Amino acid sequence: MDSDGIECVSSIDGMMDVETSLPHHTSSKSHGGGGGGGGPHPGVAPATSVHELLECPVCTNSMYPPIHQCQNGHTLCSTCKTRVHNRCPTCRQELGDIRCLALEKVAESLELPCKYGSLGCPEIFPYYSKLKHESQCSYRPYSCPYAGSECLVVGDIPFLVTHLRDDHKVDMHTGCTFNHRYVKSNPREVENATWMLTVFNCFGHYFCLHFEAFQLGMAPVYMAFLRFMGDENEARSFSYSLEVGANGRKLTWEGTPRSIRDGHRKVRDSHDGLIIQRNMALFFSGGDRKELKLRVTGRIWKEQQGNETGVCMPNLCS
Ligand SMILES: [Zn+2]
Ligand SMILES: [Zn+2]
Ligand SMILES: [Zn+2]
Ligand SMILES: [Zn+2]
Repeated sequence: MDSDGIECVSSIDGMMDVETSLPHHTSSKSHGGGGGGGGPHPGVAPATSVHELLECPVCTNSMYPPIHQCQNGHTLCSTCKTRVHNRCPTCRQELGDIRCLALEKVAESLELPCKYGSLGCPEIFPYYSKLKHESQCSYRPYSCPYAGSECLVVGDIPFLVTHLRDDHKVDMHTGCTFNHRYVKSNPREVENATWMLTVFNCFGHYFCLHFEAFQLGMAPVYMAFLRFMGDENEARSFSYSLEVGANGRKLTWEGTPRSIRDGHRKVRDSHDGLIIQRNMALFFSGGDRKELKLRVTGRIWKEQQGNETGVCMPNLCS
């Protein structure tokens, strides 16, 4: 938790069985998928496949032309070549500027499995389209959704859930309704980004509830929004509502959670959530306006129509 004095108290109704998710580390290295398809052969693939020859011995990524080699024939990728100061990392000889045209030709003729094969992607691509696919692959690892720091951790969802809980000490809750109280002793301090993250586990998925303070134009505001720990298509099959209020007034927001593929800043800047003006927030807090005390209640539900393709809103399509 951050140390800026915000405190968060929550009570959950509708407790469900707590499911403990085991850490599930991702590996960037994936072998397998024999050259260009073929049926699933039980047993072991040939030990030195062409794919292994095309694996850079330094960074273990697939090599793309230009592929370089030293005078003794050790290969390495063009990215690594710029990093090794003209010394072959394998034999320490001077590297020079020798291309390995034979290997480049082999590379161009190959079809390769997506590098996220070990994370579940079954796709196989001609060498050059592989890179393009991998930048969009729906099995590619997610970035850590933690908002308060530039965290560079990536991984699949179970891994990130464990990471949020253990490394960022994020509160974890089970259930699809929530009742959260945000208390801040000095509501005048909006400048230092104030934010909170709570994770909810329901419908077998994880959702990030963000609460942030920021400057909207000249006006300090608070904002709450939900992000789905999964990809965009699946996020669209859920909806959520947020409510905040007191003294006979309330603000309600109903929306679709955004995927954590969209950074929290991007979601915030698109105002895709419940925005509370500071004056209103202080009014809701009651008391002498010296303290922020907001009770945010909310609910997450699954839409009846599984909107599988995701691009089509029911009312907008003919
Ligand atoms: Zn390399
Ligand atoms: Zn060498
Ligand atoms: Zn893929
Ligand atoms: Zn992190």
